[in-house]
Amino acid sequence: MLLCHEMFSSLQGEGPHTGRPAFFIRLSGCLEPFCPWCDTKDAWFGGSPASIEDIIQKVVRESHRFVVITGGEPFLQWDDGLSRLDRELAEMKIEVQYETSGKVAIPQQVRGEVICSPKYLSGKWHLARESMYRADAFKFVACRESIFFIDAFIAEHGIDRDRVWLMPKGKTRKEQTELLQFLWEHCVKKGYRLSARLHILCFDQ
Ligand code: SF4
Repeated sequence: MLLCHEMFSSLQGEGPHTGRPAFFIRLSGCLEPFCPWCDTKDAWFGGSPASIEDIIQKVVRESHRFVVITGGEPFLQWDDGLSRLDRELAEMKIEVQYETSGKVAIPQQVRGEVICSPKYLSGKWHLARESMYRADAFKFVACRESIFFIDAFIAEHGIDRDRVWLMPKGKTRKEQTELLQFLWEHCVKKGYRLSARLHILCFDQ
């Protein structure tokens, strides 16, 4: 059984698979609900129990070959059923992408692709050491004030620039577009990749 906040079909709005049709499973719970810009605060607590069978049936019914498992913090529920869902989706040859802050250690045996979005708050990075080595790619929510810390983090940990995506911080279309040009130029300079957050650009007024 997994505690789910919501499940829905949509397009992946950000990161390496931007624009790709996906079935989203948003799990409930966050280890330390601390990010002031968090856009999934509803998923911090509560949620409805869903069996692995029900979740898989929904994926099959919606005919998706790509599933995004996000949160909240999905890996909080690894031992409560997520490891089984991971295994069963892999056996069905359904591609899975996880989205995590990396604060909860990413299980080393996870089969899906893991996109880690580390959070810098109160002068430090909130990231488990294991997450550093298992993440397939890193997405940073960036702005002018935080870019120095992001560059320093990437350099300190020797992260391949090809695995780094910068995304504009902000919950509105205006905030996003104001930062895109700045981040574009920074990505050109540093060799990172740039991702807009399409769901905000498309739906915010
Ligand atoms: Fe929100 Fe993720 Fe930060 Fe938790 S770790 S507060 S779910 S952005």
